[in-house]
Amino acid sequence: MILFNLRCNSGHDFDVWFKDGAAYDSRAVGAIRCPVCDSAEVAKAPMAPRIARGGREAPPTPTPEVAATGQLRELCRKIAENCDYVGDRFAEEARKIHYGERKPRSIYGEASQTEAGELRDEGVEFHRVPWVPPTNS
Ligand SMILES: [Zn+2]
Repeated sequence: MILFNLRCNSGHDFDVWFKDGAAYDSRAVGAIRCPVCDSAEVAKAPMAPRIARGGREAPPTPTPEVAATGQLRELCRKIAENCDYVGDRFAEEARKIHYGERKPRSIYGEASQTEAGELRDEGVEFHRVPWVPPTNS
């Protein structure tokens, strides 16, 4: 499974997860909302430079992540094509698949750091990757 880091227009960071494999509805990507404030204005490109805390300006240092944005976008596009979006039920669905209560399929969605830790403890396999919009006009 893969986890994307997203940020809404109010600055809430959250994660989107998926597991490699099955059919996907592309509308799901546009349906992602902030789990904190329900904003639909979600930045799916968390590669923007970090805003420095404490008043100091962050130097505009190019990062390897930014350079890899093209590859990430391609990856995200494949995810969107091949995975089922399960929203904030990611941890629940991933666990059911892991324990054989659901037939194996590819999913992605949001999960909290706590849920991620629990899944790792239970041996559920997943990945986290930064989310980049499938298209960038
Ligand atoms: Zn928010």
